[in-house]
Amino acid sequence: MTTLVWFRQDLRMADNPALAAAAARGPVIPVYILDETSAPNGRPLGGAARWWLHHSVSRLSKALGGLVLLRGDPAVLLPELAAKVGAKRVHWNRCYEPYAIARDTALKATLSDAGVAVESFNGSLLHEPWTIKTLEGGPYKVYSPFWRACLKMPLDAPLPIPKLTIKKTAGIGDKLADWGLLPTKPNWATGFAEEWTPGEDGAHARLETFLEKGLEGYAELRNRPDLPNVSRLSPHLHFGEISPRQIWAVTQHHAAAHAVVQRDADKFLSEVGWREFAHHLLYHFPTLPARNWKPTFDAYPWQTNAKQLAAWQRGQTGYPIVDAGMRELWATGYMHNRVRMVVASFLIKHLRIDWRQGEAWFWDTLVDADLANNAASWQWVAGSGADAAPYFRIFNPMEQGRKFDPDGIYIRRWCPELSKLPNDSLFAPFQALPVVLSAAGVILGKTYPRPIVDHAEARAAALAGYVAVKAAGT
Ligand code: FAD
Repeated sequence: MTTLVWFRQDLRMADNPALAAAAARGPVIPVYILDETSAPNGRPLGGAARWWLHHSVSRLSKALGGLVLLRGDPAVLLPELAAKVGAKRVHWNRCYEPYAIARDTALKATLSDAGVAVESFNGSLLHEPWTIKTLEGGPYKVYSPFWRACLKMPLDAPLPIPKLTIKKTAGIGDKLADWGLLPTKPNWATGFAEEWTPGEDGAHARLETFLEKGLEGYAELRNRPDLPNVSRLSPHLHFGEISPRQIWAVTQHHAAAHAVVQRDADKFLSEVGWREFAHHLLYHFPTLPARNWKPTFDAYPWQTNAKQLAAWQRGQTGYPIVDAGMRELWATGYMHNRVRMVVASFLIKHLRIDWRQGEAWFWDTLVDADLANNAASWQWVAGSGADAAPYFRIFNPMEQGRKFDPDGIYIRRWCPELSKLPNDSLFAPFQALPVVLSAAGVILGKTYPRPIVDHAEARAAALAGYVAVKAAGT
């Protein structure tokens, strides 16, 4: 009996429970649907994610030896395809975004009515959101007890690549190139290919490299954007080219053989735990991407300032660590986590621009753009989220640069116009002596912007705005 396997955020062959269960039953027709109808949070897939998707789908199709590509509404296309190929069974791995849950629930009913059995699986999380409960039976709102509860749960070993019989479906489906997922004019993704290898093999190679070269020291060095001590697995995880279960198993295996890295391994896996927590939060609080989790933040007097927003987006704020991060994002579709926190804090607190504007820019420009992780992280920085950083903790962008990029390697890479400045002027060029600037070829306002806001004034204004939030809570 032929089974349709609907690939979504699980673009891999190994540890793919939906695929493995289908393969055990007989011939399989794998299908990917470019679903632009049930867009997350009312918006389409971001530009950077479209680039990734193109390459990931292309690699999966080659690895499977056939993948039916359809574009449109799965609620229409999947039942149509099942009828056309005579499939009486559909498998998929579950997604947890509110829009996906609504779509899949409706689809399950439609297919069942048409006599097609549907079976869904967990392929994307260590523990599904409803399986981790507080003693009272509710969702967790604080990360540490959530993660402790996760650590007590049993975990299955990852599944191998199944033996597959792919049923050929000549003449059905689209050509990937016709989807136009890649940018053309202008092609802003030229730097992406140098940085990334989308697909299952690329994901495993990335994990291997990280375990060999980056894991030791991760617990401290993960905060250093100038060092190679983070895994950069986030886009691979988002598209499901590697599962968290595989990461868990391979990392634990590595740590067992190299006892010195056990603490770093625990810390690394606990970061994967933040991804689990973000999905837990989004599942239980579906308005997370759209509304302040703490409603008192509705009272915050956000500013509208298109010029400052554009300066932030383009990496032209006059604060080097912020500009370096925003340019890294534009050039590679990625930004180091420490710098994400700094740039987000700058937008929300120094510019007093609503976190949702930052979340939307990240959505469009990140290759790892993920509804749960992005919304939870932005609300974390804003102070409006669950278990969030307190609003009054306002990063000083100059100090953040000095502390986490002490030799200025990261800043010099992404802001080459500052590369000749000595370290004591690099983190705040506007405070440098004119003679130092001119020796380094820096002309403020010309080769590099003057700061768009004064740090001390911006800090005071941000705290003044927070008074309204506190008042709303009393
Ligand atoms: P590593 O340090 O190697 O961590 C391993 C994995 O753990 C990551 O790949 C990721 O899946 C997960 N992880 C790590 N930190 C977090 C975190 N704070 N929250 C959730 N998961 C985490 N991550 C995304 O995947 N997509 C997003 O859209 C996203 N938006 C963010 C927006 C802001 C404002 C901030 C501050 C953080 C955001 N993050 C997002 C979280 C984090 O920055 C990235 O997951 C991390 O930088 C990815 O790099 P890495 O794979 O090298 O991380």
